[in-house]
Amino acid sequence: MGIITLKNVSYAYETDTGRVQAVSDVSLDIAEGEFLCILGHNGSGKSTLAKLMNALLLPESGSITVKGMDTKDEEESWKIRRHAGMVFQNPDNQIVSSIVEEDIAFGPENLGMPREEMITCIRRAIKAVGMEGHEQDSPAMLSGGQKQRVAIAGVLAMLPDVIICDEPTAMLDPKGRAEVLETIHRLNKRLGKTIVLITHYMEETVDADRIVVLSGGRITATGTPREVFSMKNVVENAGLSLPIAGQLYFDLKDRGVELKDFPVTKEELVEGLCSLA
Ligand code: ADP
Ligand code: MG
Repeated sequence: MGIITLKNVSYAYETDTGRVQAVSDVSLDIAEGEFLCILGHNGSGKSTLAKLMNALLLPESGSITVKGMDTKDEEESWKIRRHAGMVFQNPDNQIVSSIVEEDIAFGPENLGMPREEMITCIRRAIKAVGMEGHEQDSPAMLSGGQKQRVAIAGVLAMLPDVIICDEPTAMLDPKGRAEVLETIHRLNKRLGKTIVLITHYMEETVDADRIVVLSGGRITATGTPREVFSMKNVVENAGLSLPIAGQLYFDLKDRGVELKDFPVTKEELVEGLCSLA
C-alpha cells in the first residue's frame, strides 16, 4: 500500500444552482518517495483532489488513506495534515508573520513542538529551501520565488512525509518558477520527501517519476512523462499543450520525418534530429 491511497473517490460541490461534480471515481496509489505530478487544465479537479488528500474535504464516496489513516476519521485529521503538508498557489496567503523565521515557526509552534526541536527543524527547513541569511528578513521584501520557498519551509518544519504543492509556481516569474521547482526536486531527492506536484504546465512534469492526467474530474492517463507526452490525443483532449520537443516530434511526423525515439526534452530532440543526418 502506498503512502496515500485513493479508492474510487468522488466528490461534488453543492451550490445554489445545483451539484458540481469535481472528482469522479479516482483511484490512485502514491508510493513513498515518489515524485508524482497531477496534470490538468483549469477546473479539471486538481485542487479538489489535493484537498481530499489532505482531509480538508472528505470524499462523498470511496476512501482515502494517508499513511494508513482514513481521512474520514476525524481524530486523525491533524495527524494527516501534518504528514501531508500543503503548499498553495499564492505565497502571500500563506505567510502569517513579518519575519521569515517566525513565519516558518508558526506551524511547529501550533503543533506544540518542544522548543529545542523546533529550533532545529526551522534551521534545517531554511537550509533545505536555500534561504539561509534571510531568517530576519521581512517576507514582504522577498521575491515571489523566495516567498514561496519560505512557505515551503513552513510546511517542511512540521516534518511531513508528503508535500502536496497545488500550482506553487502559477503566480511566479520564470526565475521564481525555476527556483521553486528546483527546491521541490531537492526535497524529493535529498530528503526523500514524497512530492505531489499539481500543475497545468507540462514542462514542469518532465522530471517526475509519474504523471497522472486529470480531465473533467477523472484520470485519463497515467505513466512516465515519456509515456504520457507521447499520447497526443489524451493530452489534447485534456486541454493541455505538449512541451516543445513533443510538439515538434508530431509536427515532423506529419511531414513524414519520424524520429527514432519520442523526445521529452529539447536535448533529446536535438539528439534525435542529429541522428537523422
Ligand atoms: P482545478 O484546481 O483543476 O482548477 P478545482 O478542483 O478547483 O479544479 O475545480 C473542479 C470543479 O469544481 C470546477 O468545475 C470548479 O468550478 C468546481 N469548484 C471548485 N471549487 C468549488 C466550490 N467551492 N464551489 C463550487 N464549485 C467548485
Ligand atoms: Mg486549482
